[in-house]
Amino acid sequence: MAQKSILSFFTKTNVKKNDQLSTVGDESERKVEGNNNTVSPGAGNKNRKPVTSDDEDSPVKKKQARKSIAAFESSPSPSPQKKRDSDNGTPISVPKRPRIASSSSEDGESAKKESTSVSKEQEKSVKKEEASPKKSPKVTTKPKTSAAKEKTPKASSKKSTPKQKTKSVSSSKDDQNGLEKEKQSPDKNSKKKEIKIEKDSPKKVNDSPKKEESPKKQKTSEDTKDKAANLMNFFTSSKDANSSSGSTSKLDGGADYNPGKKNYHPIDDGFWKQGDKTPYIALARTFEIIEETSGRLKNTETLSNFFRSVILLSPHDLLASVYLCLNQLAPAYEGLELGIAEHTLMKAVAQSTGRSLSQIKTDAQNTGDLGLVAEQSKSSQRMMFRPAPHTIDGVFGKLKEIAKLTGTASMAKKMDKIQSMFVACRHSEARFIIRSLAGKLRIGLAEQSLLQALAQACAMTPPNQGDRKEPIVNALRKCDEAAAKSKIEEIALILKTVYCQCPNYNKIIPVLLEHGVDSLLEKCPLVPGTPLKPMLAHPTKGVDEVLQRFEGVDFTCEWKYDGERAQIHLLEDGGVNIYSRNQENNTSKYPDIIARMANTRTESVTSAILDCEAVAWDREKKQILPFQILSTRKRKDANEADIKVQVCVFMFDLLYLNGNPLVERPFLERRELLYKHFREFEGEWMYATRLDTNDVDELSRFLEEAVKGNCEGLMVKTLQKEATYEIAKRSRNWLKLKKDYLAGVGDSLDLVVIGGYKGRGKRTGAYGGFLLACYDEDNEEYQSICKIGTGFSDEDLQQHTDYLKARIIPRAKSYYRYDSSHEPDDWFEAAQVWEVRCADLSLSPVHRAAAGIVDGEKGISLRFPRFIKIRDDKSATDATSAKQVADMYRNQDQIKNQQRDVEEDFY
Ligand code: AMP
Repeated sequence: MAQKSILSFFTKTNVKKNDQLSTVGDESERKVEGNNNTVSPGAGNKNRKPVTSDDEDSPVKKKQARKSIAAFESSPSPSPQKKRDSDNGTPISVPKRPRIASSSSEDGESAKKESTSVSKEQEKSVKKEEASPKKSPKVTTKPKTSAAKEKTPKASSKKSTPKQKTKSVSSSKDDQNGLEKEKQSPDKNSKKKEIKIEKDSPKKVNDSPKKEESPKKQKTSEDTKDKAANLMNFFTSSKDANSSSGSTSKLDGGADYNPGKKNYHPIDDGFWKQGDKTPYIALARTFEIIEETSGRLKNTETLSNFFRSVILLSPHDLLASVYLCLNQLAPAYEGLELGIAEHTLMKAVAQSTGRSLSQIKTDAQNTGDLGLVAEQSKSSQRMMFRPAPHTIDGVFGKLKEIAKLTGTASMAKKMDKIQSMFVACRHSEARFIIRSLAGKLRIGLAEQSLLQALAQACAMTPPNQGDRKEPIVNALRKCDEAAAKSKIEEIALILKTVYCQCPNYNKIIPVLLEHGVDSLLEKCPLVPGTPLKPMLAHPTKGVDEVLQRFEGVDFTCEWKYDGERAQIHLLEDGGVNIYSRNQENNTSKYPDIIARMANTRTESVTSAILDCEAVAWDREKKQILPFQILSTRKRKDANEADIKVQVCVFMFDLLYLNGNPLVERPFLERRELLYKHFREFEGEWMYATRLDTNDVDELSRFLEEAVKGNCEGLMVKTLQKEATYEIAKRSRNWLKLKKDYLAGVGDSLDLVVIGGYKGRGKRTGAYGGFLLACYDEDNEEYQSICKIGTGFSDEDLQQHTDYLKARIIPRAKSYYRYDSSHEPDDWFEAAQVWEVRCADLSLSPVHRAAAGIVDGEKGISLRFPRFIKIRDDKSATDATSAKQVADMYRNQDQIKNQQRDVEEDFY
């Protein structure tokens, strides 16, 4: 494939911005549906009854009268859980480092009980320590704001929000960790992101500093009693108990480790011995510094320094280090994931520290970060015996063991393992281990940055040095800046290219260490069995833009189906694997597709990779069904006999055939090979409906047909020139022309701004995204409907920031309905209404708009929301109502079609 294009994908991708946007956009973009009735080489969906724009109320008609909207483009990478979170993803907010009440007590009674486990001497001593402001974490609190005092339209406690954000002031944690000096300034670029935030605890806990008591006196609640005794807390009076056992010099060295240091030396500044296992504290310190530092370049350098030390001192740990940085345990398609429920982790922290579950919960709510709570709870704990320090290898192994535990007793076993890990944590280790377990590392490190850091490390400290006596510490030492930069970029290009075609560090890292960068492309090729990153399309606003972009170039238009991308791998040994857009293994989801393979593959095929869209299919009517139907299919381990939702696979590309990658061949050739080696089979295997034209009228008609046929729009692809398959790229050689971009949803919505997400990069200091809500008149509540980060100029953002900062409230109102996964950095009074347009409305498991109206549980969210203007003329309660949102959702073509079908079936 064109290496240049891969590089441009990575370099054009503004990591921080993407991180931010990927969380600002709502549910992962779905794809399109369609049917065939035009110039298809195959049958298509001729029987599909299109929705015509003659319907008076049809959004299609309305749309035609409206001007185009620009698409909100989401980042290609994050997996659905990020999905991650994808969403999961990386948080928008800068990490906060508020202090928590790690040693405050909630219950004097139980505190007494627990104090019996230590001698009076010890108790006195601990008390003394904690009396000192340096040693005792304090909480600044304000009296609780009475919920009753809030101007609630109707505050129903039953429905009140799950999380309330309250905040405290950070200052003494570092003292406890002995890191104060270090943390104040890991380097000049470093900026401590502690924010002063006021605490407004709903339960009024800790509202007086006097009430703070030693950890010994904390309540041991019901749930902590069982295991706490085994695991925790031989509290001692020794001030330095945390470092009093074992080879403490090493521990202390770890606490001071600073890979962000200028002129870092990978051996001298790495504090562990060559051949030793890498202590986990080295990675935790690296994360800490990255978390505290703004600036992608600086953070890349910090991480690369850490990698350089690992390469020279303990290369066997490089693979685990890479995975831990990405918070992954294996390639996505192996499906090994963490993401332990927060409640379980809270229990583990409580049980291992002797703090009560409710206190941990309160602290986690106040700080919004269980990792920090864990760290502080741990740092206030004195221990007589310290388990062996964590190593990277050990932590990674345990995380994997935890992820692999399944079955009925697995919860208890997981708990044991988590606790045993937690007990051995030092300094910030607990913070990052807990975050890893929760599946959210929250240091803002995107995969592109990691690859860049690895490239930088390899450029300076070649990884394949073997047992060389005098290792090369900095190969770029004698290069001028330009030469050094170009060397790093050259290696980055190789690494990123290789990662796109073979996204599997289990293969890449060993080759890197044994053979070096130059062997990677050859030794980690594109092969069936390893999913490659898919090519993606660039959005366009209309036919004109397409013609402009492709002037003088041959191109084809294909219907854009609304199903699920299916990368189908046919292996030499006859095996078939199916991967999702995010390289997850969907093989067990589609036993039906696999069983029918012989209907499409010709005898000439020994191995192949097909790029397709799997779409829900109505066998009787021989037509495509909406994406929502497909999404009801079982996600894993489906039994073919039980499958109710049938799928038809629309094939649109061939990326590999009989031992040869085709990605560098032009699309015209790939398509011919596809037609030659794979046949159509009605209702099971079809070619994407296509039209090769550059005539405006034909193209417009084709688009209209696609839309009428329930399709989302078209994919327009170059055929010969610049027509390679650009792995992992949102390429300009594939344009998507969605009906949504042409007109958007018929009406705009007027929504209330209830929360703000802090901006990053050039948006630092302003909000970069907002949480919007509609108004439910019946329940008198504001229901979240989308996050929005598109449509704002920089001036807009500044203006909104200024206006909204004056309307910050300490926590969500009791009548705000939202999901905790969308909790903003700041909550606002429901004061301002914005006009917003969107591509369409879809059912959402997280947003609460109109929940219970269209679907029993799910709410409705906007896809591709775009800010239009402030509606000064509207007050918050004049915002679009939940009922209107439900009507808009139902009025969409696709949904109407679905309903019409239901009615026809009924009669
Ligand atoms: P989007 O998700 O909006 O970026 O659009 C890209 C997605 O459209 C791909 O990931 C495919 O799953 C889907 N798709 C549907 N039809 C086609 C087609 N004919 N060619 C390429 N992708 C298609």
